[in-house]
Amino acid sequence: MTNDQGAIATLQEELAKLPGIGPKSAERIAHFLLSGDREAAVTLGDALRQVVEKVRPCKECFNLCEGEMCPICRDPRRDAGSICVVETPRDVALFERTGSHRGLYHVLGGRLAPLDGFGPDRLTLSALAQRVRRGGVREVILATSPTLEGDGTALYASNLLAGTGVAITKLARGLPSGSSLELANPQMLADAFDGRRTL
Ligand SMILES: [Zn+2]
Repeated sequence: MTNDQGAIATLQEELAKLPGIGPKSAERIAHFLLSGDREAAVTLGDALRQVVEKVRPCKECFNLCEGEMCPICRDPRRDAGSICVVETPRDVALFERTGSHRGLYHVLGGRLAPLDGFGPDRLTLSALAQRVRRGGVREVILATSPTLEGDGTALYASNLLAGTGVAITKLARGLPSGSSLELANPQMLADAFDGRRTL
């Protein structure tokens, strides 16, 4: 009996760690998963295991994908001369939804936060510099979040790429300042992309 209670408590604790889920929702989800034939719980468990086992960063752009390289990097119709630099794989999905960018991406894996000890070595900045130096790139679009840390990250990246000869552009303002790109609707994001300016 204590074991069963322990398992439910553990499940609720883990569910409550997920974004947007508080203790009450965690309790509701746990009881839903344990009700009926429990098919949903088994399917969810399998899906979680699969995603952990199969999904890796793309070796070129660090977007999440199954296999070595993501579908965007593998797509010959994408413009390899234009690289949109974003913080997270989630941002790639946001830009893909706008349909504005026909080039490739580079996922940094976060943004610089010097006060929290999150320095340049924690991001994929040197891989970005290598990609650009390899040639064939005309434009690097810095699409970091409109926050102090996002701006600092963009500035660091533009300094890193200075002298490579590529055009470095940044998203237009007009996005809600101090927030993440997720909060912008697709049209706002498309406008910011189309209105990007050279640094
Ligand atoms: Zn990729």
